[in-house]
Amino acid sequence: MKNIYKIKKKIRGNLKENISLKNYNTWKVGGKAEYLFEPYDVEDLKVFLSLLNDEKITFIGNGSNVLIRDNGIKGFVVCLKKSLNNYYLNNNKQFVFEAGLSCMKIAQITAKKNYKGLEFLCGIPGTLGGALRMNAGCYGGNIWENVSKVILMNRKGILVEKDRLEFDVSYRNVELKDDNFFISATFDLKLNELNDSLDIIKKFLKDRRIKQPTGLPSCGSVFKNPKNLYAANLVDSLGLKGYRIGGAYISKKHANFIITEKNAKSNDVEELISYIQKKVHEEKNIYLETEVQFIGIKQ
Ligand SMILES: Cc1cc2nc3c(=O)[nH]c(=O)nc-3n(C[C@H](O)[C@H](O)[C@H](O)COP(=O)(O)OP(=O)(O)OC[C@H]3O[C@@H](n4cnc5c(N)ncnc54)[C@H](O)[C@@H]3O)c2cc1C
Repeated sequence: MKNIYKIKKKIRGNLKENISLKNYNTWKVGGKAEYLFEPYDVEDLKVFLSLLNDEKITFIGNGSNVLIRDNGIKGFVVCLKKSLNNYYLNNNKQFVFEAGLSCMKIAQITAKKNYKGLEFLCGIPGTLGGALRMNAGCYGGNIWENVSKVILMNRKGILVEKDRLEFDVSYRNVELKDDNFFISATFDLKLNELNDSLDIIKKFLKDRRIKQPTGLPSCGSVFKNPKNLYAANLVDSLGLKGYRIGGAYISKKHANFIITEKNAKSNDVEELISYIQKKVHEEKNIYLETEVQFIGIKQ
């Protein structure tokens, strides 16, 4: 491990040691990060990464699609949710957003300027970086549909521009090879002649409030939908709504949501996920793949 004191002298962001990650994920569970870095800006992130050797690096955004294990995360966790939140509009056509911007803000910015195509992002509580990694989507839209190019940073702090066509974009997944991380993305958007983007946002948010347990600690949909099926319907059909392990239970409002209580352990959530997978497999002969990413040291 590098000399942390020396690194701290060269960076402008926040580098903390042995810090709980409970406030860095929407389930509010999990252990500590050995080191947590919140960069000041892209330059600062470059400097920071260039000072590391081969330590483990884990990027997170708003932690709204990760289950951070109770044993915590080794090495450096880099969290972008408080920085990298600049954006600009090129030639009245291309929006460039940095990876720390929240999806909700991106939806608002583009809708207020009367561009269409990103309204669906309004209810997704993640950052752009996490959304690109997860190919986040809903209400018929997926984030990569309007992306033309992205800028990545590798673990040495070097920036590379890549075309959208260089990525294998699949359902809730875009693999990144060789420790590369999303720094920004360019979106080609069209003007909305109907001028109704803000109304669409209102409609989407209302629909979520009706159908989902908004306001409670969750990571959204835990499982991917199997082809032509809904994971929520499969779980519901087994009468599992409300089923709990420790401080984690299946939402009564939406069976693909797991809610955590204050005393919940990450392991309660992980055991509940395994239990649901086992039951669905036994009863329906279907394997439910998780959408949520497991990070950190296993029990
Ligand atoms: C109430 C609720 C509703 C939700 N609704 C939806 C929905 O409708 N549709 C949907 O798709 N998702 C939904 N989600 C899930 C989640 O919000 C999205 O997947 C979101 O895009 C994750 O972004 P994040 O910043 O929180 O990522 P994180 O959870 O922090 O990270 C997710 C993954 O991305 C990686 N990552 C994060 N930042 C970067 C980066 N800069 N570069 C490379 N990798 C990175 C992480 O290592 C991790 O593997 C919902 C979640 C909640 C809590």
